[in-house]
Amino acid sequence: GCKTPQDVMAAISEHGIEMVDIKFTDLFGQWQHFSIPVEHFDAESAFEEGLGFDGSSIRGFKTIESSDMNLLADPTTALIDTMCAVPTLSLVCNVYEPITNEPFSRDPRYVAQRAVEYMKSTGIADTVYMGPEAEFFIFDEVYYHTNQFSAGYGVDSGEGIWNSGAPGLGHQIGYKGGYFPVAPYDTLQDLRTEMVREMLNAGIEVEVHHHEVATAGQCEIDMRFAPLVQMADQVQLYKYIVKNVAKRHGKTATFMPKPLFQDNGSGMHTHQSLWKNGEPLFAGDGYAGLSQLALWYIGGLLKHINSLLAFAAPTTNSYRRLVPGYEAPVVIAYSARNRSAACRIPVYSQSPKAKRIEFRCPDPAANPYLAFAAMLMAGLDGIKNQIDPGDPAEIDLFEEDALKRVPMVKGSLGEVLTELEKDHEFLLEGGVFTEDLIETYISHKRVADVDAVRLRPHPHEFVMYYGI
Ligand code: GLN
Ligand code: MG
Ligand code: MG
Ligand code: MG
Repeated sequence: GCKTPQDVMAAISEHGIEMVDIKFTDLFGQWQHFSIPVEHFDAESAFEEGLGFDGSSIRGFKTIESSDMNLLADPTTALIDTMCAVPTLSLVCNVYEPITNEPFSRDPRYVAQRAVEYMKSTGIADTVYMGPEAEFFIFDEVYYHTNQFSAGYGVDSGEGIWNSGAPGLGHQIGYKGGYFPVAPYDTLQDLRTEMVREMLNAGIEVEVHHHEVATAGQCEIDMRFAPLVQMADQVQLYKYIVKNVAKRHGKTATFMPKPLFQDNGSGMHTHQSLWKNGEPLFAGDGYAGLSQLALWYIGGLLKHINSLLAFAAPTTNSYRRLVPGYEAPVVIAYSARNRSAACRIPVYSQSPKAKRIEFRCPDPAANPYLAFAAMLMAGLDGIKNQIDPGDPAEIDLFEEDALKRVPMVKGSLGEVLTELEKDHEFLLEGGVFTEDLIETYISHKRVADVDAVRLRPHPHEFVMYYGI
């Protein structure tokens, strides 16, 4: 682990580095990069003056008239990028304005850092841990050539869409049957192990990997919880490793929330807890061993849930996942037992240190910096305003009756963007999010996502209406 620019320069010579890869995250969560041959890499530019790039070509950053931007590398993020063929050192950066050298207010990593600073400034806590469980699917490259929208596609016919070989050869996993029989049902053990090895090499602590509930192809790798900004960095690295190791084997990995009709989608449940002076603030003698403070945190998450979804479930596809019947939450409630509630309190362990809440709405299409920051801000708002989360839901919330009684989350990206437009004061506290970022985010999403889908004839409309 490097701490200073000097450590980075020493690592570069020690490991015979040939390329230094410079990475940062755009507004919508994509990792972007460029590389510098080591002969041209100097500590002064990378850590003090800034490395220039064209901000107008990055989604959501700048317009053409003011496009020059700088990157400053964070030495603590240095690692060998083993996805590259030659020895390459990777550095994660923050984005800065030129001339004034101000941090760029739409830099997602800066938003996450400010959220943590804001938390500290309130005196409520000094540390926030995030533990995301980002699920994903592995498909053969050929997946793109097949068509799951064709007429008659349903639970019993999945011809050729996944990677378990030709249909009818046995050891096939049915819809929702993937959790979690051993090989030969699970065909992805070795692939996941290779991903985990790469993650461990990159310094990520991995706790477990397994096949997930959906039919052959859905996987999960869980990282040990870490402080918010570090965890957002790790999510970016995790997705990068998963996709590139899959590619190494002629497969593709996707983090899109709902690739398969009528099967489980991919979530990114996010476990969260606040700490102060090394003490866990979420443990207490309230419901499910929670403290009053934790209950208020939940109150904040549930109050702002629809607005939060604009960052936590940020694609049109996210709302094909957030439907009843697939272990994805749809109801605005919390519960210790219940996986159908938006907020679950895991009770595997009674240790105060393990006390945390699991927010189940997020999916892995989220920009982790913005989603984690927004969730923290909602929780802090709950604590500051002592927002009561109401009674816990002890019933099966997917059951018909319950669905009528308990409020449901909004059902489309368009709606949650409107909610964000109406409800974002809590995000502006401490200058964490800016009006400018929120406006840019909403207007980009409305055009590039909502309209892009809304205006296109859907493949299934041809099945339903072509012969009308
Ligand atoms: N895949 C489910 C979701 O979309 C979660 C399944 C699980 O981890 N129990 O949230
Ligand atoms: Mg899990
Ligand atoms: Mg899971
Ligand atoms: Mg979970």
